[in-house]
Amino acid sequence: MKNQPPATLLNRTQEHIHLAETFGAHNYHPLPIVIERGQRVWVWDVEGKKYMDCLSAYSALNQGHCHPRLVAVAKQQVEKLTLTSRAFHNDRMGSFLQELAQLCRMEMVLPMNSGAEAVETAIKAARKWGYTKKGVEADKAEIIVFENNFHGRTTTIVGFSSEPQYRAGFGPFTPGFRIVPYGDLEAVRTAVGPNTVGVLVEPIQGEAGVVVPPEGFLRALRELCTAERVLLIADEIQTGLGRTGRLFCCEYEDVQPDMYIVGKALGGGFYPVSAVVAGQEILGVFQPGDHGSTFGGNPFACALAQEALRIIVEEKLSERAQEMGAYFMSRLREISSPHVREVRGKGLLIGVELKAESGPARPFCEKLMEKGLLCKETHQQVIRFAPPLVIEREEIDWAISRVQEVLA
Ligand SMILES: *Cc1c(COP(=O)(O)O)cnc(C)c1O
Repeated sequence: MKNQPPATLLNRTQEHIHLAETFGAHNYHPLPIVIERGQRVWVWDVEGKKYMDCLSAYSALNQGHCHPRLVAVAKQQVEKLTLTSRAFHNDRMGSFLQELAQLCRMEMVLPMNSGAEAVETAIKAARKWGYTKKGVEADKAEIIVFENNFHGRTTTIVGFSSEPQYRAGFGPFTPGFRIVPYGDLEAVRTAVGPNTVGVLVEPIQGEAGVVVPPEGFLRALRELCTAERVLLIADEIQTGLGRTGRLFCCEYEDVQPDMYIVGKALGGGFYPVSAVVAGQEILGVFQPGDHGSTFGGNPFACALAQEALRIIVEEKLSERAQEMGAYFMSRLREISSPHVREVRGKGLLIGVELKAESGPARPFCEKLMEKGLLCKETHQQVIRFAPPLVIEREEIDWAISRVQEVLA
C-alpha cells in the first residue's frame, strides 16, 4: 500500500479514518469523528468523548440511539427468525402492515428496505395505475416533481434531480418526469396534462436546506390532484413519523395524499425499513411477480418497525417534536449573530441559514463538533438541527449554549 503512515503515529480516530479512506469509496465527506457507542441523543467516539447527535442519521433515529425497547425486540427476533424471503409468509409481517396502514389511514402497504426503493416502488405504482386505471397511453406516463427535490440516489431518481452533482456522469436517465419550482401551484397546474399520473412532493424539502413551502400549498396541490385525477405522492421519508411535530407533515394542512412513502425512522435506527402506503385502488395494481425485494417485509425488519411505530405513538414523539421544536427554534431565534440569515422549519426539523458573506456552513459544523455538538451542513449555507425526538428541554439548553458560542 502506498502512502500508509506508520500505525504507531496514528491515534485511534485517525487509524479508523485512514482505513475508511483507503478502502472505502469516497462518496461521502464525513466530519472527522469516529463513533463507537450511542444512547438516546448522545454518542461517544473511540476516544471516549461525548457528543450530542443533532442530525439523527437524517431523521432515521427519531426514537433515539439504541432505544431499549428496540434492543429487546432485535435480540428476541434475531434468535428466532430473520429472513424467509417473500416466497413464504412469516409471522411478523401481517400485523406490522396492518398497524402501519391504520396509522396512515390507508388500506395497503408494500414493504421495501431503503427509502430510494420505496420511491421507485411509488413511481412504478403510479405509472401502472395510470395505464390500467386512468387509461394513459402505453409508455407516456408523466410524473411531476419539484426543483431541489431529494428522493434518493438510484439512476431513475437522480435523473429527475435538479442538483447537477447528483446527476453528473450518471446518465442516460429515465424519461417521464417534469420538474417545476417548489411551492408554485400555477407551475404544477400548467405542467399537468392528460398523461400526468402523479405529483411527487416532499412536504418540507429537507436535503434542499429545510425549505418550507408557502402555507396552503399542500392543500392546493391536493385539490388540483383530485380535480385532475392525478395521484398525490407524499415522500415523508424524512418529514414523517413525528419529525415535524405531526405523525405526517401533510397533517398540518389536513391533507391525505394518495400515497405515503415512509422510511428512515420506520426502522428505528436499527435496520433499513421503508414502505409505500396507499389505497387498494393503487397498490392493487401489483400482481404476483410484478415487483419485489429479497429482504422487503422480512421478519426482523417487521418486528423492529412495528415496535418503532409503537414507540412513536406511545411515547408521543410527534407531540414532543412539536413542543421541543418550538422551544429549540425560539431559542435559536434569540441568538444574536452576525451570521444568521433565517431560522426555519417545523417540529424538530430545523434549518439555520447563514448569510452568503459568512461563507459555507461546514466550518461552523466543525466548530460545533469541537464543542460536542454533531450537526451537518446541507446545501452549503444551511445548518440542519434535527436531534432525536426524545430530546429534553435541558439538553436543548445545552445545545443552544454551544450554538451561541459558535455563531456569536
Ligand atoms: C433519505 C431520503 C430518501 C432516500 O432514502 P434512502 O434510505 O437513503 O434511500 C428519499 N426521500 C427523502 C425525502 C429522504 O430524506
